[in-house]
Amino acid sequence: MTQINEKIAIRTEGDIGFIVSDNPPVNALGIAVRQGMADALETLNADPAVKAIVLYCVGRTFFAGADITEFNKPRLSPTLQDVIAALESSAKPVIAAIHGTALGGGFETALGCAFRVAVPSARMGLPEINLGLFAGGGGTQRLPRLIGPEKALEHCLSGKPIGAKAALDLGILDAVEEGEPAAIGAAFARRVIDEDLPAVPVRDRDDKLAATRADPTAFDALAKKLTARSKGQAAPQANIDSIRRSFTMGLDEAMAIDAVANRELMSGSQSRALRHLFFAEREAARIPGLPESAKARPVARAAIIGAGTMGGGIAMCFAGAGLPVVVIDTTQDALDRGLERVKGNYATSVKRGSITQDQMDKRLALISGATDRAAAAAADIVIEAVFEDMDVKKEIFSDLEKRVKPGTILASNTSALDVDEIAAVLERPRDFVGMHFFSPANVMKLLEVVVAKDTSPEAILTAMAVGKTIGKVPVYSGNCDGFIGNRMVAKRSAQAERILQQGGWPQQVDAALTNLGFPMGPLTTNDMSGLDIGYSIRKRRGTPFPIADAIVESGRLGQKTGAGYYRYEPGDRTPYPNPETEAVIIATSEKLGITRREIAEEEMVERLLFPLINEGARILEEAIALRASDVDLVWINGYGWPRHLGGPMFYADEIGLPRIVTKLREMAAETPGDPSLQPAALLVQLADSGQTFAQWQKTRVAG
Ligand code: NAD
Repeated sequence: MTQINEKIAIRTEGDIGFIVSDNPPVNALGIAVRQGMADALETLNADPAVKAIVLYCVGRTFFAGADITEFNKPRLSPTLQDVIAALESSAKPVIAAIHGTALGGGFETALGCAFRVAVPSARMGLPEINLGLFAGGGGTQRLPRLIGPEKALEHCLSGKPIGAKAALDLGILDAVEEGEPAAIGAAFARRVIDEDLPAVPVRDRDDKLAATRADPTAFDALAKKLTARSKGQAAPQANIDSIRRSFTMGLDEAMAIDAVANRELMSGSQSRALRHLFFAEREAARIPGLPESAKARPVARAAIIGAGTMGGGIAMCFAGAGLPVVVIDTTQDALDRGLERVKGNYATSVKRGSITQDQMDKRLALISGATDRAAAAAADIVIEAVFEDMDVKKEIFSDLEKRVKPGTILASNTSALDVDEIAAVLERPRDFVGMHFFSPANVMKLLEVVVAKDTSPEAILTAMAVGKTIGKVPVYSGNCDGFIGNRMVAKRSAQAERILQQGGWPQQVDAALTNLGFPMGPLTTNDMSGLDIGYSIRKRRGTPFPIADAIVESGRLGQKTGAGYYRYEPGDRTPYPNPETEAVIIATSEKLGITRREIAEEEMVERLLFPLINEGARILEEAIALRASDVDLVWINGYGWPRHLGGPMFYADEIGLPRIVTKLREMAAETPGDPSLQPAALLVQLADSGQTFAQWQKTRVAG
């Protein structure tokens, strides 16, 4: 083995040369790797004994992608495009031997090689769309040449990795073999040399483009279909445009345009938002201030108390991660109903093709039921999801504590109760933590890990780790009314109510946010969850909403009663305008002495979003959330905030904090009854000093 530099080495075995990358942890394609590969290629091409070259990586994966830390820095030569071009024009055929995950730039590197082989567990693809980009290293030009523009389009717009077997079937791979990457690469190189396999560079393959070139109609129709639900997003269209160039112009010409287009995306707000979220997720797992010795406890089995809507969904999360879980309810009847609902949910997924029958059977086999709490004795974590009633919860926890093993984590899925008050009944409150899932719990990614005052570092870490294991995005939250998300959403709900009183209609309020990219407006969402939930919280807090309250008091609780803000036809979830609600709205405006007026969409957006951003700032001041980016994750994963808008605090930074302060002051002046509209001290301080939430977060982490 000869080291080319600290990351790249070469060796030869007879007439086969090897380029070996060793850049832990994921063989990211940083400058040293790129330079090393270019030099290695030159050296091996100059070696007359070498007839074919195998490119592989040591460690857990082939090049997993670009070096994301180089994203915001000036480009260093050789660029990835330079290296891929060198691989492609190599006089001796290069065979990429793939294991682990070859994504983005890693996959594009493999596409620059004459041949690709992989181990069966390898996964590969172009996920750039998830960062608001397209594969600018030639991926959108070479993939269509291998598998055809339509298949390439489907892949690039989904951004989901492809398994080795599927990649072989698609024609991306030349072989899939068990073994070490070096060995399977060498075996294929042997064939290339002995059988004289034609090494046609991907750039010169043309047959897969021919049909689409002659008739692009099907391509355009597919593009339209696949982007029907990506309103307002720049990256899907940029992927389409780029792949379209694969069959309308030559590779070099297309790549020159690609470079400009991708640079534009890269500096645009949407890609910055998506990259912000990429880092935010990694960052959220770190909880500063915990002792280094604190570790998450191992969790091999779980128990859920309550087989209702949430309990069943949470059980599905554990089963989905392969962990056995017992669901405990008070009566056999409640239990049966709960487990039936779980079965029904799985059956729907099988019908939709998102899981197989075999997966359904395996998951169901992991979920058991019981009516006796003794069944929780073996669990490493117990999550309570019974009625939202303090006394019921207190009774459950004080009893459970006596039944479980020492060290078992006791968690509550309460949405709004004081976790300190629940913990107060426990002998060992250190093991207690809030785990606030969102409905439907088997689908929604957000998990607020709510920390009570006595919660131990181990309990926090275990809740965070379990959340990750079962596919959630866990976010640390301090204890306060509504925690992070619901506390902020309350501010939006208050504005929605006021907008209706002052002249807006439900469909306008909802459209203001769906036009921005939210999948559903706030009032349709309330209708879906049930209007009685908010009603009972308002009663408890003593904060009446005249319109919302009147709707509930007339027996209209949302979708489940066929009417709420909207009207619903049986078996149809489409919200239709509801004349009865409109009458309630008009009567309320009159009663309050408000002359209804036309409210522009822009005003609605500001009024719905700025107060919740303001509450986010207070949540940061009070250290309920650890970071502005954590608040963003809550909204992205729990409340439908469009990913390409980065979350409320990122959005606020983009809009400019001074403007938000000015608008909030105007709103506060118009609504003297609501002092929460006064801009938060942190917001004012940042706006006055020309700072952003992102900058504030950095200084806090550094300090
Ligand atoms: P649900 O009414 O659908 O289910 C509650 C279940 O708990 C029922 O099956 C009931 O039989 C069972 N139960 C009641 N007392 C019990 C006891 N002593 N022992 C065992 N089981 C008992 O309620 P849900 O919507 O699933 O909500 C459960 C919890 O989750 C609540 O604290 C709620 O605030 C919280 N939550 C709900 C949502 C939501 O959108 N539904 C979201 C987040 C959190």
